Amino acid sequence: MAQNEKPTALIMIFGATGDLAKRKLFPSLFRLYEKNKLGDFAVIGVARRSLSNEEFHASVSQSIHNETSDQEKIKEFSSKFYYHSHDVTDSDSYASLNKIAEELDNHYQLNGNRIFYLAMAPEFFGTIAEHLKIDGLTDTNGFKRLVIEKPFGHDLESAKKLNKQIRTAFSEDEIYRIDHYLGKEMVQNIEVIRFANALFEPLWNNRFISNIQVTSSETLGVEERGRYYEKSGALRDMVQNHMLQMVSLLAMEPPISLTTDEIRSEKVRVFRALRPIKGSEVKDYFVRGQYDKGLMNEKEVPAYREEDMVNPESNTETFVAGKLMIDNFRWAGVPFYIRTGKRMEAKTTKIVVEFKDIPMDLYNRQEGSVNPNLLVIHIQPEEGITLYLNAKKTGQYMNSTPVKLSYANKGIDGLNTPEAYEKLLYDCLRGDATNFTHWDEVALSWSFVDNISEVWENEKEQNFPNYESGSMGPKAADDLLEKEGHFWWPVTNLDVEKC
Ligand code: NAD
Repeated sequence: MAQNEKPTALIMIFGATGDLAKRKLFPSLFRLYEKNKLGDFAVIGVARRSLSNEEFHASVSQSIHNETSDQEKIKEFSSKFYYHSHDVTDSDSYASLNKIAEELDNHYQLNGNRIFYLAMAPEFFGTIAEHLKIDGLTDTNGFKRLVIEKPFGHDLESAKKLNKQIRTAFSEDEIYRIDHYLGKEMVQNIEVIRFANALFEPLWNNRFISNIQVTSSETLGVEERGRYYEKSGALRDMVQNHMLQMVSLLAMEPPISLTTDEIRSEKVRVFRALRPIKGSEVKDYFVRGQYDKGLMNEKEVPAYREEDMVNPESNTETFVAGKLMIDNFRWAGVPFYIRTGKRMEAKTTKIVVEFKDIPMDLYNRQEGSVNPNLLVIHIQPEEGITLYLNAKKTGQYMNSTPVKLSYANKGIDGLNTPEAYEKLLYDCLRGDATNFTHWDEVALSWSFVDNISEVWENEKEQNFPNYESGSMGPKAADDLLEKEGHFWWPVTNLDVEKC
């Protein structure tokens, strides 16, 4: 689709009364509408509850009220929303949904283009996809696309089963598996920083890079998601998808061109080169943690095991740190360290690329050694890059001191960075699947993660809880790097805003 062509489609959101729809999907669609990026469109909100169209309009208006004060615009936008009370297992319910879809298609001239967005509990994904086919909703003259939220399965086995179900109704290139990290501006920027700079690409390999650290930490605990999280844990919730996706973008070879297929196939090659971890080696490569009580913003917060819907003897990890090795020519010998967790000191996602030391330190003989060069990519909340160099320390002697070159993305072109969901929805409407995960990536990342979760499920961690709320994780995560002669760069001090 040409860049300035406006997409036309009927969007069916399954789970339209849920948290994701209200917090992300409606506001994102509204922003696209306000920026005049959408052609003709209509939305059918599908959920269990019985609601009138008017009640649904009120709910949509409520969820976008922070976006604009223009009430007319809100009304105009909401009037394109329709509601269907639905039972996901009942064919009659799909038949009446199809009838509304056909009417709206005619009324709004949507060319039979249909997007099915599954913003519901994952256990329904397969059933819905099968019904969409059996009950005729995928029989359409235009395009049909399935957008599917995480988690995509619980392990490789269940992911394969789910994939088989959805493939009965949609081909691989009609399936848009959301990983909302891939919609983030600075995650997309990894590729440009790497491939558009003569300064970095020649150094982007095991001859010049010592290690790469990817941290994604949250300050929140499990909140009201205890039931889901008990079955998932940080490894499945964060590592299998977001963390491995960021690693693949950092490690991939330059694609021949920026097409979906070329980029995806380079990412898949990274997953294929990821060193599998055998059961007996898990302890050498991965560390798990679970938060204890502690102080956050001077307020006492409970331990994970004291949270709602959590087993008081839970073995679920709320923190993971790991060492990934990518066994190919470019990366042999360079550890990619990842860590992610809840109730940590700061909410931040950062990538630190640590370059190797220079061969000889001429400048700091008395005062300790020269710092390594670092490239820090700030993903969130602040967005930007910082490059740490060494320069002469002002004064009589020839000593060096670290200096920072910083670029903060914010406001650089006068625009607020679009939300990840806004970009991903727009991509899907335009048929660009580049920033969605291909089945091969999903399958390879599950098979990597399954080896670890199998060991963790069968061996209860005796030291849980093992990190205090408000810290940067258990000591074992520091030891993991220390044994390689590395350490975690303190992400809270690498703040681009403060530069
Ligand atoms: P939610 O529980 O708030 O909403 C669930 C929705 O599904 C509701 O609209 C409900 O009516 C509908 N529903 C449930 N059972 C139904 C049935 N039998 N028939 C018809 N409709 C039914 O969930 P959520 O937080 O919006 O999450 C939805 C999906 O998005 C999940 O897969 C979740 O993992 C994923 N997700 C959510 C977020 C988020 O920020 N909330 C972020 C990332 C991914």
